[in-house]
Amino acid sequence: MSVFETDDHRSFRQDVRDFAASEVAPHVSQMETSRKVDSQVSGWIVAQGWLGLTIPRKYGGIGAGHLAKTIAIEEIARVSAAMGAMLQASQLGAAMIIHYGTEEQKQTWLPQIATGECLPTIAVTEHESGGHVLGMQTTARRVGDHYVLDGSKVYVGNSHIGHVHGVVARTCDADTRPSKSLSAFLVRADLPGVRLVPYQRALGLHGFSFGDIVFDNVAVPASDRLGDEGDGLDVAYSSSVLYGRPNLTAVALGILQATADATVSFTKKRHRYGEPLAHHPVIGQRIGRLEHQLRTARTLAYQAAHMLDHGQACDNELINAKYYTVETALDATRDAVRIHGGAGLRTDRPLQRFYRDAIHIDAPAGTAEIQLHRLAETALGVDRGQWSERFAHLTALPPPATAKENAA
Ligand SMILES: Cc1cc2nc3c(=O)[nH]c(=O)nc-3n(C[C@H](O)[C@H](O)[C@H](O)COP(=O)(O)OP(=O)(O)OC[C@H]3O[C@@H](n4cnc5c(N)ncnc54)[C@H](O)[C@@H]3O)c2cc1C
Repeated sequence: MSVFETDDHRSFRQDVRDFAASEVAPHVSQMETSRKVDSQVSGWIVAQGWLGLTIPRKYGGIGAGHLAKTIAIEEIARVSAAMGAMLQASQLGAAMIIHYGTEEQKQTWLPQIATGECLPTIAVTEHESGGHVLGMQTTARRVGDHYVLDGSKVYVGNSHIGHVHGVVARTCDADTRPSKSLSAFLVRADLPGVRLVPYQRALGLHGFSFGDIVFDNVAVPASDRLGDEGDGLDVAYSSSVLYGRPNLTAVALGILQATADATVSFTKKRHRYGEPLAHHPVIGQRIGRLEHQLRTARTLAYQAAHMLDHGQACDNELINAKYYTVETALDATRDAVRIHGGAGLRTDRPLQRFYRDAIHIDAPAGTAEIQLHRLAETALGVDRGQWSERFAHLTALPPPATAKENAA
């Protein structure tokens, strides 16, 4: 329980927890064994409307805010980090539209996203650029009322189940020379020339896809450009800071909670030297440390989401929460596997899954080094302003209705 949660948040958490236990948990072992991209469980999760948690009600969303979104992702990730990652990834695609979409684009896309009929992605990373977004090489060449996209993107979250890709590309000058400016586009996954590369399985997050997409001479209507020409970097950064950081924080939090649950239960049941493992002082200390990590991570995560919900400047809190929570998940899952001894390595037990999944949460929305780089910029007074301040009018929850409005 935290001071940031309201009764509505607590009751919502219970709903998501019940859903995760009945609809997600029974399928985790199958996802682990087959290691295939899941679309079925993903479909059930998004059909709950949880991609619409931060989509305003006037566009068909729930409009419950960023803390509610954090709770939903955390509770799903507690049961399956892969499905937590699935639920978080498409929210970045939605964020691009919330932040930069025209009224017409919002009315076209957001209601479908809110119901789960349409899964958007955000496709920024390339083989040769990665964390250095400005190094990207995918081009968008203006031809009449279209842009022609050429290039490829890697590690796109929900790549293989997404319906529309939020692609950032380098806009070409009229003479087709690539310019320095980036622009963002909504690219329907069924457009001619959009090709999925066969999915390359990874170490963990089995069931989630973060694969590669090729754009080969893809004609995208100019009306599907998000923001102005040259806004691409801002589109990418704003969704990464305001949605990517807190969403990955929530996935890490779910992994941490699951790790704590499994470790406490295991050490109470397992006996060594005639008493439960938990009663041995060294193990007790390690459980205390795990509890400390979990509580600190949750406080940082919820505080940052609460600030977003209240329109406060909080880029550094979002970055700090992502850094701490991911580092802690990596540390805690490693220690928990060791506390389990040989049992921690067995694939019929979840500990090794938590350990493998945790490492996947480092790179998306910026590795640990990138988070520290941003925090250093703030400490040194050379940061370039706060996205949370700039978009406060879009992230903050509307003020609660007055008694008079409720009565009307
Ligand atoms: C599970 C998962 C989901 C993802 N989802 C998406 C998605 O939905 N959309 C998308 O576009 N991308 C996505 N990504 C890609 C992710 O954003 C990149 O992996 C990340 O930006 C790092 O890029 P890279 O992997 O090319 O590593 P690189 O950028 O090559 O970095 C390699 C190493 O160098 C370090 N490094 C790089 N620059 C610096 C620096 N300036 N200072 C210090 N160290 C530095 C990094 O920290 C890292 O350790 C996802 C990745 C994963 C693993």
